[in-house]
This record gives sequence, structure tokens and C-alpha cells, in this order.
Amino acid sequence: MKLRRTKHEGWYEIMSACVVCGQRGWCRINKDQTIVHCMRAVSDDFFDSTIGRQYRHYLDPDAAPKTKIEIEVNRAVDKKPDFHLNRVYRALTKELPLTSHHAEHLRNDRNMTDEAIKLRDYRTMPGPERYKVAKQVISRVGDQSDLLGVPGFFCNEGAYGPYWTMGGAQGLMIPFRSIRNEITGWQIRVDKPLLKLDMEGAIKGEILEEVDPDENGKRRAKCKLRIQDKTLEVILTEKDKKECFSKSGQFVFSIVLKPGNRYWWWSSGDKLNGSSIGGPLPIHLALPFPCLKLWSVGETPETMISCDEVWVTEGPIKADKAADALVKPVFGIPGAGAFSLLLEPLKQLGCKHVVFAYDADVVSTPEVEMALEQCIEFFAKNTEMTLSLAMWDISLGKGIDNLTDAGYIPQVAKILD
Ligand SMILES: [Zn+2]
Repeated sequence: MKLRRTKHEGWYEIMSACVVCGQRGWCRINKDQTIVHCMRAVSDDFFDSTIGRQYRHYLDPDAAPKTKIEIEVNRAVDKKPDFHLNRVYRALTKELPLTSHHAEHLRNDRNMTDEAIKLRDYRTMPGPERYKVAKQVISRVGDQSDLLGVPGFFCNEGAYGPYWTMGGAQGLMIPFRSIRNEITGWQIRVDKPLLKLDMEGAIKGEILEEVDPDENGKRRAKCKLRIQDKTLEVILTEKDKKECFSKSGQFVFSIVLKPGNRYWWWSSGDKLNGSSIGGPLPIHLALPFPCLKLWSVGETPETMISCDEVWVTEGPIKADKAADALVKPVFGIPGAGAFSLLLEPLKQLGCKHVVFAYDADVVSTPEVEMALEQCIEFFAKNTEMTLSLAMWDISLGKGIDNLTDAGYIPQVAKILD
């Protein structure tokens, strides 16, 4: 298990797969490996923090042999305040392009107009020579120390001394805007997601390296598997699920190689003089795109658009699209458990009615349903706002953006008055 120290003495961020949810990033474990604060596996024992709701899970201390712990050295610095991040990120928008490949994706797959694409400041994170971009940003903001504490940037050791550059995978950059139109962070929709293994039953395994794709262009990886006490190395092909049953027909294990997460925070918390995006995590306020021409940095938008009713969905592009289709302010939160981060911004906007528009499959799994129940409970306890749920038949589209693209508007049902 790979761990990184956090600001809380005796608590570590799990950098390898979380022992509770199996995903990477954000989940915490205590020094004795007896308690996990998981960000994804919902439980009714929880607390709210600057990175969203954390669910407490107690591990059975006798159940499994303790895995070897490696502790990463943390060489990152604290994140700077929003106004500073905005200054550097605005300079970055002037130096980064939006490639035609990414513009086409937004135009053709997301049905956005050229004007919306331009006003929303989407960008492309390039492959090589990022230090050149960092250098240009420095010349715009004034001093290289201005990049310190700005997630995404970090200082590398070169043959001629240290130099500033940028982390993150290649892909489409999506800005997160605060309620005062400050760009406070970015998510990258990566062009080529890392591969991951989905395993069930009596099998353990890890990806050693990605190898050349097969003749049909399917991605492949060399993997090390452990089945009972046997260890073997095999090459697995993307989406080619292997299942094993015993002679009596009982399920033993299954394994499949899949592309991992598409969306990643642009962050550099694992780098020298880098900075993590977390604490507090940005949330994104999307307005209908024509408002962006009038929206001054530092000002909340109530004079331009009514904020009496504000919608909430998951993910920044979905929020951007929903804002255009519904002509409403729409918050894009970075995950279904991040709702507690909305409380202050909603109050500051003077919101009276919140409409939650989560994906239509929200009630199909007990865990997601429980997260939604907790979200409603949280707002009922902490605010006077009216709460509603936007609902539609999943056959019309999974997300609110798919629904409005198909020409529909969701039904809004009050859950709390
Ligand atoms: Zn977890």
C-alpha cells in the first residue's frame, strides 16, 4: 500500500487502490490501518470536510495480513487562495491552445456552438515542451514564485538547474469557475485513459505495463496475476472478460482490462514544489454562455441572472451544457459526495430553491441512492431552501445533458418545502 502524509497527524492518503472502494486517490487511512475514511463507498458513519463527504469504515484488524507500507515523500506546498489561482490560470488560458481535435469533440459530440466553446475557455493540455508554456505564463504574471502553490505547476530538476513546468495527462482542459468567476481549478478529460483491472472473486492482479495494441487496435497490457498460490504473467486485451467457474459450476473469479477514469483533476501534489487541488476542492458554477461576456471577475452573478433557483449536477461539462439548455445557473460538483461544498456558495448567491439533476441511474443502486438521501438530509438540516429532484426516464438519456440534447426537459418534483 502506497501512502502519502496528510495535514492530519497519523492519517495518510492512500495512493494505491483504496482497500474499501478499490479506486485511487482521496481516500484516507489511519496509521494503524484500522480505519478508512473512504470518499466513495457510502456508509451511515461519515463527516464533511473540504474535499467532500468522507465515509468512515472500520477494518477488521485480524482479517487480513497487513500490507507493506511505502510512504511517499511529500514535497508539495499548500494551495494558494482563489484570487491568486485565478490570476495564474487566466494567464494560462492565453498561452494554451484548444486543438481542432478537442474543438470538434465539443462541437460534434457535445453539440456546443463555436461561441459557447470560445467563451467557456476550454483548452488543450499539450504533450511535450510544457516548460515553454510555463515560461510564458511566468512572463505574464511577473515572477516564477507566482506559480508556487498553483495546482498543475511544479518545479523540475534539469541539467541546467530547476525549471517550472506542468503536470497532468494530455487532454481537454475544463475550467472550474467560482461564484465570482474566478478560475480556481481544472479537470482534464484525458485523451488516453490509463488501463485498469476489474476483478471479482479469488483473484489478485496488477498491470505491469501497456504493450502494443492487437491487430484490431484494441489496447493490451502485460499483467501479473495471483490465483490461489500461483503467480503468472499474461497479456490481457481491453474489454475481453475472462471468467472461471469450478467443475460444479460455481463462480471462482472474473477479470477484465478496462480503460480507467476519463476525468482527472489537474494537480501536481506528488511533485517537487507542486500543489494538490484538494482542500477545499473547487466546485464549478456554470451560467448560460452569453452571460460570460458580462460576468466580471470578483462579482457574483445575481444582477445578470436570477439565482433564486439553482441546479446541481455532477461534472463541469454537464453543468455547462445544462446551464445553456435550461437558462439557469447550474453547479457542477466533482462527485456525488461533494454536495457539502455547495452550502456556502448557495447561501452567498441567495438561492431559495435547489434542483438536483443527477444521472437517471441515481436510484438504481442502493449506494448512490443512499448518497442522495444523505445529500437531501444535509440540506434540509442546514438550510431553509426548497429542495427538488429533476427526474426523467433513463431511456431518454442518462445525464441531464443527454436529456436536453434529445429535446426534453426534466420533471421537477419537490422533495422538501
Ligand atoms: Zn475508498
